[in-house]
Amino acid sequence: MPIRLYNTLTRQKDVLVPADPARVTMYVCGPTVYSRAHIGNARPAVVFDVLRRLLRHEYGADHVLYARNITDIDDRIIAESASTGVPIGEITSRTEDWYLADMGALGVEPPDIAPHATTSIPAMIAMMQTLVAKGHAYVAEGHVLFDVPSFAGYGALSRRPLDEMIAGARVEIAPYKQSPADFVLWKPSSDDQPGWDSPWGRGRPGWHIECSAMISEALGTTIDIHGGGQDLIFPHHENELAQSACAHDGAPLARIWMHNGFLNMGGSDKMSKSLGNVMGVDDLLAQGWHGEVLRLALLSAHYRQPLEWTEALLARSRATWERWQRRLDTDVAGREADAHPSVVAALADDLNTPAAMAALAALDRDGDFAGLAGSLALLGFRMPRSQAVDAGIDAQVAARTAARAARNFAESDRIRDELAAAGIVLEDGPGGTTWRRT
Ligand code: AMP
Ligand code: ZN
Repeated sequence: MPIRLYNTLTRQKDVLVPADPARVTMYVCGPTVYSRAHIGNARPAVVFDVLRRLLRHEYGADHVLYARNITDIDDRIIAESASTGVPIGEITSRTEDWYLADMGALGVEPPDIAPHATTSIPAMIAMMQTLVAKGHAYVAEGHVLFDVPSFAGYGALSRRPLDEMIAGARVEIAPYKQSPADFVLWKPSSDDQPGWDSPWGRGRPGWHIECSAMISEALGTTIDIHGGGQDLIFPHHENELAQSACAHDGAPLARIWMHNGFLNMGGSDKMSKSLGNVMGVDDLLAQGWHGEVLRLALLSAHYRQPLEWTEALLARSRATWERWQRRLDTDVAGREADAHPSVVAALADDLNTPAAMAALAALDRDGDFAGLAGSLALLGFRMPRSQAVDAGIDAQVAARTAARAARNFAESDRIRDELAAAGIVLEDGPGGTTWRRT
């Protein structure tokens, strides 16, 4: 089934045509690891996790390569370390661990590749050297700057006039800039700031060059899909696009650019640390909201639409989740099933998760529990172990114990073999028989 995705660059749904269907490449801008993720940060992680699962379903599990970076050098990290006294390496490694744990609780699988900015510095330096050599970047006062007017395509992604872009980005006016729109690729570090040796002295990279260099290093010159939140369209992705095209003689960085809308709190306010209206993923889990319920709530709106995060949304999502769980308890065999075509079709239409939810409701109504279970698996929901199944196994174990007590070994062996065939191993111990899944 062809997958159509809304492309921010063309402002329309484009059919995904991977350059190599045996190696579909996707890169999503990952977290800057200075503080624990809030539920707004989880939205892109979950949305692109669903897309990755859809791509695997379509192209095969081994034919999708998903990279999500870790930005582990950034002025916010330096500031966090300065204000708390915690060393930078400790902040970044614990925040990354939290991120993986929190996203894991929401059913987000780790990416295939997780490039770290601090281990990709040589690739960044090489790309900057290329940009300088090709006349798209210049060196001034220990900085390397991208020469925005040198790239005619600048602004194509965000479609804003240059003066508006400059105002919107609150671009720093600095004496070393040739044009106010020029942006920093490399900047000098003082002795108390982290830094790396470079042809331009000891310094550290700007944010944008990281992704361009890591994409090229991890996935190649042109990737199939590039994603992130809408706030990344400008300046981050506009700048990534410009750097990569200029470094690669005009070859595009990505075929399809995708951006998720914001998760809002209390009206139209984007959840963000700077507004102070954040809810940590860990806090929500600690309040007793199941990870699958949070995932369902995050997927309740179409990814490009704003999502209002409310208690009512959580309660609704929990009710739906509990209903599905009860349904699937009644049909164990369905767990192995494939996703229903109606759900695949909804996702293939620009990840239309509300339509997928409606299709799930129809499967539920029609009693197609196998289709429901297979579709939930495609959406990345993990079915908790069915209580009914566990109770059935307990009953069989008890029957075997009774058979053994009656010295009916033919019967007790038969039950053991039957359970073994279903992937259940029995362990006889002094306290009785326990079982586990293989
Ligand atoms: P950051 O760690 O701030 O760079 O953000 C990580 C990712 O989360 C980026 O893709 C952002 O666009 C995204 N993001 C941040 N806040 C929100 C929000 N309230 N709703 C949706 N996405 C967000
Ligand atoms: Zn990026």
